Amino acid sequence: MQYKAVRGFKDILPDQVGTWTRFEQEAKRIFGLFGYREIRIPILESMELFARGIGEDTDIVSKEMYTFRDRRGNHLAMRPEATASILRAFIEHKLYKGSPVHKLYTMGPMFRYERPQKGRRRQFHQIDVEIIGDPGPRSDSELIYMIMQLFSSLGLDDLELHINSLGCPTDRGPFRSKLKDYLKDYTSQLCPDCQERMETNPLRVFDCKVDRCIEIMKDAPTMLDFLCEDCAQHFKQLEDYLTQLGMDYVVNSHLMRGLDYYTRTTFEVQTPELGAQNAIAGGGRYDNLMADFDGPATPAIGFAIGQERVIELLEGREEAGEQGPDLFVAALGTDAEDRAFVWLQEMRKKGIWCEMDYRSSGLKAQMRHADRLHAKRVLIVGDDELAKGSGILRDMSTKEQREVPLDTVVDEIARLSHR
Ligand SMILES: [Zn+2]
Ligand SMILES: [Zn+2]
Repeated sequence: MQYKAVRGFKDILPDQVGTWTRFEQEAKRIFGLFGYREIRIPILESMELFARGIGEDTDIVSKEMYTFRDRRGNHLAMRPEATASILRAFIEHKLYKGSPVHKLYTMGPMFRYERPQKGRRRQFHQIDVEIIGDPGPRSDSELIYMIMQLFSSLGLDDLELHINSLGCPTDRGPFRSKLKDYLKDYTSQLCPDCQERMETNPLRVFDCKVDRCIEIMKDAPTMLDFLCEDCAQHFKQLEDYLTQLGMDYVVNSHLMRGLDYYTRTTFEVQTPELGAQNAIAGGGRYDNLMADFDGPATPAIGFAIGQERVIELLEGREEAGEQGPDLFVAALGTDAEDRAFVWLQEMRKKGIWCEMDYRSSGLKAQMRHADRLHAKRVLIVGDDELAKGSGILRDMSTKEQREVPLDTVVDEIARLSHR
């Protein structure tokens, strides 16, 4: 029986990993410039953590989480996002006792049981960034600036930044009842999910992807009209800072981001290139989540980047020119092969990337092999060369060949490779 990967779970093959690595290294480089430090959190958490943090009636918690009981009956979940875990770790290890502001990032797989489609998997990867301890709006604008700088340095410039404010819990009460009133006129036209959302959490209707629901929400009251003075001021300052930093943005009053914990600033980065899955990153402020977790009241803001979607954009524009080994040794005959085998290990010790074929193939086959690996040079050694004490070194780009003495060949290759 041949096995296949589980539906919605995908292998990332060696040819694809280069793009992933470049993306992640560039993210680490840029985050470092802004003073962020990496944190690594477990894939499994108690199911309760997400139910409380993300909200019982969100789609993520009610429909999409991978949950199970372990052998002792503990109710566990595979993380569907990273923020709740980071806050859990922050409180558990009392990180708040150190510096007043913590800038953290993490990256890795997340799990949601959604219908797999282009740009959406059940195991997907996120880069997650959080600033804990600053109420903004300077932090908010800096965070947004940083994410746009990352995309720009990856060559992704054709992006749209959407921002919104969800206010504070005080603003949300009146807004919720106004929204409920508005929805009452359309009850029968809403999709069954939204009819339920209307009662439990009417704000979630903004997240619905059903055409008729989107149509209805076009004229719905917006949160921005219900902001208290402080929240309105916070949002205005955010806009001012973004303008000072020379950033283009769209105020999108329908941007709710699907999670219960957001307060004030929310934002999303969208691309015109990926169709329905057009959001490549998004996030927002969650000033009350720490207290919800029984930690010390601490304001915070964060975002997550959907790595698969960014990779899809990057793969479209990556230039060819694959990296290959510094040297391929084409050895002919057992004696030459044995000598080459030892050279190979010596050269690797000197930091040279080199390869050979252990299957005793002919010269033609070995040259093809070297070509396929994109080797920069090939050293050809057979019985004649061994007897003479010199091999033939071929530069694969210029096709030039010359003789090199075998007793110093390792040093010669090291000299060529390191310049
Ligand atoms: Zn407010
Ligand atoms: Zn709906």
